[in-house]
Order: sequence, then C-alpha cells, then structure tokens
Amino acid sequence: MESYEVVDWGKPLQRAMRETPQPTGTEVLIKLKYSGVCHSDVHIRDGYFELGGGKRFYMTDRGMKPPITMGHEPLGTVMAAGSDAGVVPIGQDRLVCPWTGCGNCAKCNTGNDNLCMAPRFMGVGRPGGYADYLIVPHPRYLVDVAGVEPAFAATLACSGLTT
Ligand SMILES: [Zn+2]
Ligand SMILES: [Zn+2]
Repeated sequence: MESYEVVDWGKPLQRAMRETPQPTGTEVLIKLKYSGVCHSDVHIRDGYFELGGGKRFYMTDRGMKPPITMGHEPLGTVMAAGSDAGVVPIGQDRLVCPWTGCGNCAKCNTGNDNLCMAPRFMGVGRPGGYADYLIVPHPRYLVDVAGVEPAFAATLACSGLTT
C-alpha cells in the first residue's frame, strides 16, 4: 500500500510503499476514503509543539520515532477483521475514533481509552490514515456516520470525538 510518512522532522512527507497490513485478533482493516489534515499534524510534522514562553513539547519525548504515518481523522470502508473481532460491518463505511489506549489497563478495559495513561493514538502512537489502509485495534472504534457527508464526517474524528 501507499503511505505518506514523516521521515525527517520538519521536512515534507515522503511517499513509501508498505506491505498492506492484515488484521489479527480483534483488529479491523479499513480502506481509507478520507483522512483529515489536523492542525496538530502540522506540529507533529515539525517534531514539536510551541508551549509559549520559549518552551517546546517534543514528539520524541512521547516516544515518537520516524517514519511516522500521521492522520487521526480517518474514514473508510471496512474490508476485513481478525477472528476475535466479532460481527463487523464488512463493506460499509465507518468513521474511525483514533483515540486508542494501550488496550491492557483498567481504563481501556472499561472503554475509557481517553483516560489511558499510555495512549496509542492512531496517527500519533500507531500508524494513521495518510495511507491506503489502516488497522483499527477493535471494532468498538468504528462509528456509523450514515447521513453525514463523509468528507466532513472524517474531520469529526478529532473535532467531534476527542472528548
Ligand atoms: Zn487533531
Ligand atoms: Zn490503557
């Protein structure tokens, strides 16, 4: 698959050809149709956020190491799922909530990924949507947005689902 990646902080994304990932366990494979570009991506690409007062928050301090596929506003078609994923809407389009936790702590196990202390957000701590395909760790991150214009719905992954 094609992927656009941060290879050097602050430099243009680079096109790469990668093996198309295959879902295992509870994972779901999405073929992307839309992937919003968030203001955060501009800063992630830079490698840091300005905190004011001359202070910076560096992505490397979050454990990020290029190459990185950004993109945390993904929407696409459900293509396949691992054997433990249960019933998934194969062939249907879904918005993906990108704010995934570690998957192993008490917060994650009760569906409160947003409170996880070791988050692995799509497009930040795991590959995101600037690619042809995206692995979603569990179908619970898929959101039905039927009736919402899909190019707009993609942007809601960050601006609408963050809380
Ligand atoms: Zn964002
Ligand atoms: Zn967790």
